[in-house]
Amino acid sequence: MRPPADAVVKTPEALARLSEEIVRCRRCPRLVRYRERLAVLGAEKDGSSYWGKPVPGFGDPEASVLVVGLAPAARGANRTGRIFTGDRSAEFLSAALYRAGFANQPFSVAREDGLEYRRAYLTAAVRCVPPDNRPTTTEADRCLPFLVREIRALPALRVVLGLGKLAWDRSFQAASEAFGVSLRRAPFTHGARLPLGTGLPVLWGTYHPSPRNTQTGLLSAEMFDRELTAIRTYVDDAIRGSDSRSRTTSRS
Ligand code: SF4
Repeated sequence: MRPPADAVVKTPEALARLSEEIVRCRRCPRLVRYRERLAVLGAEKDGSSYWGKPVPGFGDPEASVLVVGLAPAARGANRTGRIFTGDRSAEFLSAALYRAGFANQPFSVAREDGLEYRRAYLTAAVRCVPPDNRPTTTEADRCLPFLVREIRALPALRVVLGLGKLAWDRSFQAASEAFGVSLRRAPFTHGARLPLGTGLPVLWGTYHPSPRNTQTGLLSAEMFDRELTAIRTYVDDAIRGSDSRSRTTSRS
């Protein structure tokens, strides 16, 4: 069951405050040095302005689906300042979310591009770009409370979608803590589903849409679309079910 209402903070303001806190974070010295150095080098190389700070989540505060990636990419979110924006993973993911009806446009290239997610919120397990895309366990542990708080601040969640094994594992940990449940961890596979309990979201897993996976054929657009379509159907059914239960209750 979900924790008592007074144990959670569920407002768009709470999400906005959390995002501000994330952007100011400097808890991981190695990642602070790396993200800032990349920003300086990137700006020197191509003259554009780089974000170079932690990247908060982005999307609909009434999201039914929380999409959790690994971490900002060097030329993606660490450059643009918005999660899954401006790189090949973003290109793949935003087009797929658009096809599944979770976005108003099929591209995510810059913070000012007009993208809006509908019933979806995107975030990452680690908010600063790590060298070689590999945060240490300590760094991922330090960042986990942000994900716990994000989950608690999204009142309409039905699915937490972990992109890749690290995001799956960290989403499992964060959701378990957010909802106070103790479950046996399930192994990550593409298409994995783990219900967290009655009235709680389902943890869902897919391969990460990184070029390494999409260009080698490990993950195709069709494979990813199949999971998003299943998620959409699951979410729509869950919402219809809870609407009809609440109508029955209000009539009785
Ligand atoms: S990875 Fe997370 S905890 Fe570490 S500095 Fe970045 S935002 Fe802070």
